[in-house]
Amino acid sequence: TDDFFKSVVSHAKEYGFVFQSSEIYDGLSAVYDYGQLGSELKNNLKTYWWKSMVQLNENIVGIDAAIFMHPTTWKASGHVDGFNDPMIDNKDSKKRYRADQLIEDKIARYEADGKTTEATALLESLNTALNADDLAALKSIIEEHNIVCPVSGTKNWTEVRQFNLMFATQMGAMADGADQVYLRPETAQGIFVNFLNVQKTGRMKIPFGIAQIGKAFRNEVIARQFIMRMREFEQMEMQFFCRPGTELEWYNKWKETRLKWHLALGFDPSNYRYHDHDKLAHYANAAVDIEFNFPFGFKEVEGIHSRTDFDLKQHQEFSKKKMQYFDPEINQNYIPYVIETSIGLDRLFLTVLCNALVTEDLSTEEKQDSRVVLKFPPALAPVKAAILPLTKKDGLPEKAREILNTLKLDYNVQYDEKDAIGKRYRRQDAIGTPICITVDYDSLQDNTVTIRHRDTMAQERVAIADLEKIINDLAGW
Ligand code: ATP
Repeated sequence: TDDFFKSVVSHAKEYGFVFQSSEIYDGLSAVYDYGQLGSELKNNLKTYWWKSMVQLNENIVGIDAAIFMHPTTWKASGHVDGFNDPMIDNKDSKKRYRADQLIEDKIARYEADGKTTEATALLESLNTALNADDLAALKSIIEEHNIVCPVSGTKNWTEVRQFNLMFATQMGAMADGADQVYLRPETAQGIFVNFLNVQKTGRMKIPFGIAQIGKAFRNEVIARQFIMRMREFEQMEMQFFCRPGTELEWYNKWKETRLKWHLALGFDPSNYRYHDHDKLAHYANAAVDIEFNFPFGFKEVEGIHSRTDFDLKQHQEFSKKKMQYFDPEINQNYIPYVIETSIGLDRLFLTVLCNALVTEDLSTEEKQDSRVVLKFPPALAPVKAAILPLTKKDGLPEKAREILNTLKLDYNVQYDEKDAIGKRYRRQDAIGTPICITVDYDSLQDNTVTIRHRDTMAQERVAIADLEKIINDLAGW
């Protein structure tokens, strides 16, 4: 599975899906750029989410809030005081670690050594220390269990300190720091502060939702596993506002709906599961993750949280603006309760790559052969069809380009005339193109072409006039 993950990462780079940011300067850690195919795939994933959330639900609307927000937003949301990781530095290696992560690694080692009693006891002390925000206790645990720095091998640790995950920067040019703003660490707050704007201007009636896709930034200390944990990433979030007392009903509905949405991509369902939280944030009364079986294990892709009226109440308190809704059905004013669905677009992208990448053995008795295919659902495929003239002469390129021109406004299609046709098919397999359209000498006579299907490699002869419908049936939403 380690090797498989490596092949996913190298395939993503080789074919222009994902590049390390600023690679010519040796890269910027945990920041990535999406290439010519990656940006297409990402856009298709956004479309899939936006259509299913906003377009298909009459009572959900979308917004696009700014990344910068008034600094008080983050006081109200709790991020200034509470969005911290407990960090510890090793004085010899000068490396910084998350204290809880060091302890979790130790627990894993106890378990691997069959020391289950030690593992259970250590997990309990870790949870106690974390729940009490007791930094000194974390330090004592690290000392008592002889946890050493993975790099220097020494136990020469600093104290444990809180490290805020928000990036700060200056807006305007005041010298005294009064102009400090943050890059948002989540998109949700842009929705909460606009709750009344949208409700009033859109004449929304509870229950209703507000959806948003946008960048978020976290100064993650342990950044690893490719686009799994990034410092700049993209979220797709929806906040669903409902009447107090109905929230668990809606929570269950969204929990179910969101898993179905993942499964509708058509990949192996056994790689998806729920992980119910038994430890809840103080403002939540239910929370679940949807996890995917990555090559490095089951990990969170999406969270569904019942956040009560915590956020709106906080904003009401800090802004002194009423955040209430008048419910005409029961003749009452109240602060709505919120169910949130929050998915990381980059993690979703990674699930799709891991699901889609396959190496197929095509060996026959005569010769060894294999091919690498990205089996994307056609609607997600970056390129919908490749148009390939059989030869570079005799009017075939012109005919192929004629076809290309009729399709390119509606579909991302590619023209390729280089190399033998078999080689061109393989190139399209490797980027997940669902069909190849080959233009040959007969095409000039009878206006038909050969379609070759990615997954079955089956070929069929079709009329050029039918191509648009064929692509739409295959790859349209
Ligand atoms: P984790 O526990 O993995 O750090 P989280 O619980 O902090 O995640 P949330 O705050 O619930 O995550 O964010 C919602 C979603 O945003 C996550 O399910 C994940 O898909 C995505 N996400 C969060 N942090 C990152 C990151 N650093 N890089 C990429 N995606 C992220």
